[in-house]
Amino acid sequence: MQYLSTRSHDEKATSAEAVLRGLAPDGGLYVSEAIPAAGLSEEALLSLDQYALTAHILKKLLSDLPAAAVEAAVRDGYSGKFETEDLTPTVPVAGAHVLELYHGPTSAFKDMALCLLPRLIATSSQACGVKEDVLVLTATSGDTGKAALAGFADAPHTRVMVFYPEGGVSEVQRAQMVTQEGKNVCVCAVRGNFDDAQRGVKDVFARFAGKNVRLSSANSINIGRLAPQVAYYFKAYADLRRAGIVQSGAPADFVVPTGNFGNILAGYIAKRMGLPVGTLVCASNENDVLTEFLQTGVYDRRRTFHKTASPSMDILVSSNLERLLYFASDGNAPLVAELMRQLAETGMYRVPEALLARIQGEFACGKADDTAAFDAIRRIWESEGYLMDPHTAVAWRVYEAYRASGRCKNPAVVLSTASPYKFAPAMLEALGIPVPENGFDAMEQLHGVTGAPVPAALAALRQKPVLHRNVIDPCGMPAYVEQKADQAQWAK
Ligand SMILES: *Cc1c(COP(=O)(O)O)cnc(C)c1O
Repeated sequence: MQYLSTRSHDEKATSAEAVLRGLAPDGGLYVSEAIPAAGLSEEALLSLDQYALTAHILKKLLSDLPAAAVEAAVRDGYSGKFETEDLTPTVPVAGAHVLELYHGPTSAFKDMALCLLPRLIATSSQACGVKEDVLVLTATSGDTGKAALAGFADAPHTRVMVFYPEGGVSEVQRAQMVTQEGKNVCVCAVRGNFDDAQRGVKDVFARFAGKNVRLSSANSINIGRLAPQVAYYFKAYADLRRAGIVQSGAPADFVVPTGNFGNILAGYIAKRMGLPVGTLVCASNENDVLTEFLQTGVYDRRRTFHKTASPSMDILVSSNLERLLYFASDGNAPLVAELMRQLAETGMYRVPEALLARIQGEFACGKADDTAAFDAIRRIWESEGYLMDPHTAVAWRVYEAYRASGRCKNPAVVLSTASPYKFAPAMLEALGIPVPENGFDAMEQLHGVTGAPVPAALAALRQKPVLHRNVIDPCGMPAYVEQKADQAQWAK
């Protein structure tokens, strides 16, 4: 499979090179030259288990990686790491279905990809004949960081650095990262928000181009992050088919709590591979830059950044939208390059009418602020006995509005992206229960209320010593990475 940059067809790469590099040298994102058909009969879709299904999709999307290595990556990456037998259960809730993507080692959907990415990078490294270690840079809005640390800790020939916004993640998310053990891990807070950290990482890529350090990325700018996410859409659809919720070939709609546009883009890729996906509904919190874009065709990041109860969606520059612009314009790289230039220089862009119409044909959207999300958490808990985290609740509220609008004609799947226990204080507030000062007390209290088990890895955090205390300015990131890259070992 040939990969190209969204910004220029002259930037070509194999899938192994694309996984290894993360970002294209011209600052664009890698996209496959054509989106491959899934090549799955209905019989195969319904009979393959999730491991085989995931390996099948990965082999289509990353076709020049050795098939046996991809199969081993899926098997070894997922086996024994999930709390549930079914990696991603599809649960009926109040007339819809919730796809639970958070039963992995760090209790967020990022695990679905980051359990596999270290192995995909190692395989890519080998395929490209790379000898030196790979330095994996990660900006996180809260969940990618820990999932990357867990995935890469003590993995051979790789080192991982995580930058998170100081004060911009939940107490438990922070604890998950700053207590991370491993000789090849480094965690650093950035005085700024996620967008500052993400821009900093892209800056580092630009400045290190040509230097003797192999950089890669664990963010969803890396195609190795997106590809595994495509697979669970197929799995969820198969679940609906098996339960008799959709008929053969009939579409299902997916509602996705969105930040960097990676999760929902994976749904779009699944659709282009042939999965019967109806409408993809993009749900935003108060940072509603995507809602406005999908309604008006204007992307304008010049707005107030809101800190919300769904911090992993507190993002104003959604990187993967660039890939959608590319695919929906039939690969118009010069147009994408121009729009991205405008975004960088003026903070906004407007897409041509025809492109907007095409995008609106596939996507619906909506937003929900904290009050609306908390209302959904409480109502669904009280009426259904089902607990959803604040990110999932944003999507649920948007799903309710979408259904009320009469546009929802298909069975709907709401993607659930995190365990409620990662956000216990917000959950208690939503349920109208006094919130203790300490996040871990809140976790125990939430357990007392709901009886639902606390994921063991989260409960254990309380006892762990803090190992990472550095805080830097965003502009200091390149120097910081340079200095760290020079150290032979990061003793911890
Ligand atoms: C990362 C994240 C999101 C947003 O996903 P994107 O792929 O960035 O759109 C939503 N919810 C949770 C819990 C997350 O960790």
